[in-house]
Amino acid sequence: MLNSPIQTFLDELHLKFQPLKEGVLPNYIPELAKANPDWFGICVVTADGQIYQAGDCDQLFTIQSISKAFVYGMALEDRGRDYVLTRVGVEPTGDAFNSIQVDEVSKRPYNPMVNAGAIATTSLIKGIDPTERLNRMLDMFQRYVGRDLFVDMSVFTSERSTGHRNRAMAHLMLNFGMIEPNIDEALDLYFQQCSVMVNCQDLAVMAATLANCGINPISKARAVESRYVRNILTIMYTCGMYNFAGEWAYTVGLPAKSGVSGGIIAVAPHKMGIAVFSPLLDSHGSSVRGLKVCEEISEQFGLHLFDLRADIAREEGLGARG
Ligand code: GLN
Repeated sequence: MLNSPIQTFLDELHLKFQPLKEGVLPNYIPELAKANPDWFGICVVTADGQIYQAGDCDQLFTIQSISKAFVYGMALEDRGRDYVLTRVGVEPTGDAFNSIQVDEVSKRPYNPMVNAGAIATTSLIKGIDPTERLNRMLDMFQRYVGRDLFVDMSVFTSERSTGHRNRAMAHLMLNFGMIEPNIDEALDLYFQQCSVMVNCQDLAVMAATLANCGINPISKARAVESRYVRNILTIMYTCGMYNFAGEWAYTVGLPAKSGVSGGIIAVAPHKMGIAVFSPLLDSHGSSVRGLKVCEEISEQFGLHLFDLRADIAREEGLGARG
C-alpha cells in the first residue's frame, strides 16, 4: 500500500499545498474560528475499501454542510422522491450557501444543498420526538462511517445561539407553508447534523460508500437504498459546491460537497471517495487547499466524469490516456 501510485501522489500533494496559507477561517459560527489553520488531511478510500491518507486524517471536526447530502438521502428514504420534490427543488442557484431566496412560483427552496433547502430537508426526517429523530440521523451517519459518532455540543450551541439567518429562512418557509410549524425542532436537528464530529478518513469512507452505490466498502453495511444514490450524486454534482458548482464541474468533474469547517468530499463512481480537510476557506466557503487537491487528484487519475480519453484508450488497446 505504501508504495502505491495513489499513496505517493497524496504525499506529494500534501507537501505541495501545506505551505499554501490563502483563505480565512469562518467567523460567523464563533466556535469554528478556533480551528487551527494548519490542519491539513487528505484521504482516499477506494470503492473496494483500500485506504490511503496523508496528513491530519484523525483530527476531529464538525461535518457542517457535508451532512446535507446524506440527510437528503435519508429524507428520500423516509418520504419518497415524489414527496420530497414537493418540498425542496433540484435547481442549482447562482447564490451563496446562505441565500434567503426561494422559488418565486413553487415557494420551494431551490435545492437541498443551500441552507434553506437543507433545513426543509431536515424537517422531513421521521421520528416520534426530537431524540428519536437525532438518533435515527446518527445511525444513518454511523452506517456510512462504520463507527459511533457524536454531536459536538460547543459547536451546536454556538450555531444555535447565533444562527439568526437560518432561523429567518425557516420562518420564511413556514410562512409559505413549506415546512411544518415545529421549526425550532427542525432547526435544532439541522444544527445538530452540522455539528456531528468526523475526521477526514470518515468523510472519505462516506464518499466511497456513495461511490460503491450505498454500501460501505469497509464494513459492507448498506448505508442508503441504492435507488437514491443517483439522486444524492446528481444534487452534489449540480449544487454541492453552491455558486462554484459550475466551475467545479468543469474542472474537477465529480459530485462533491463542501462544508464551512474545511471539509470537502468528492465521489468518483465505482472508483473512490476523496476527502480533504483544511479549514482556510475561499469566498464561496470551501477549503482552499481542498479545492486544489481535488483538482489535482481528478486530473492525475483521469476521474472527470466526462474525460472520455481513458475509455477510448482502453478500447483501442492503447493502455494510456492520450
Ligand atoms: N452549519 C452551517 C450553516 O448553517 C453550514 C454551512 C456550510 O457548511 N456551508 O451556516
